Amino acid sequence: MNTPKKRIGVLSLQGGFAKHIQMITNCGATALEIRNPAELKQCDGLILPGGESTTLTKLINRYQFRAPLLEFAKSKPILGTCAGAILLSKHAHDDRVQPLGLIDIDSHRNAYGRQVESFSTTIDITGLSSPFEAIFIRAPQLTLLTNRGEILAQNKGKPVFVRQKNIFALTFHPELTHDSRIHELFLKFLP
Ligand code: GLN
Repeated sequence: MNTPKKRIGVLSLQGGFAKHIQMITNCGATALEIRNPAELKQCDGLILPGGESTTLTKLINRYQFRAPLLEFAKSKPILGTCAGAILLSKHAHDDRVQPLGLIDIDSHRNAYGRQVESFSTTIDITGLSSPFEAIFIRAPQLTLLTNRGEILAQNKGKPVFVRQKNIFALTFHPELTHDSRIHELFLKFLP
């Protein structure tokens, strides 16, 4: 008997959701564009893409996603990239952003500077046997608030990929590479 394909939702209100959809599909799972909270019920896991955490906050409020996302996180894995990681954090130090507080990290938006300061570099990631090309675009910097989270990767001594139980926060954009190992890592984590 075939095991049913895993279904990964990608929050598709704004930002870089299309590339995550492509990546998940390439990994052989089913990718679902999530635009209203009821659709979360169909998902085994969820990706919060990069974009603008200020705009995403507005849209999460407008479409009443907040409570359903908090509920989802109680039993299912969530991976947030860049703005998505900011949304997962406890504090974003910007009144326009209302983070979900799902992982014990502080996030500082645009901590590397403006768009022109965006960069890519190779990093080592726990669980991957060779380095990963990490693309940082107006990325936040993260600070761990407790020791409940595990740092899976760092750049210049700062955490850039953190997991706390079922919540994964990364400040770079794996969906912009041709390397699907982070998405595969997330898929393997699903029940
Ligand atoms: N600078 C954006 C923010 O603060 C994040 C950028 C990104 O997601 N690439 O929300």
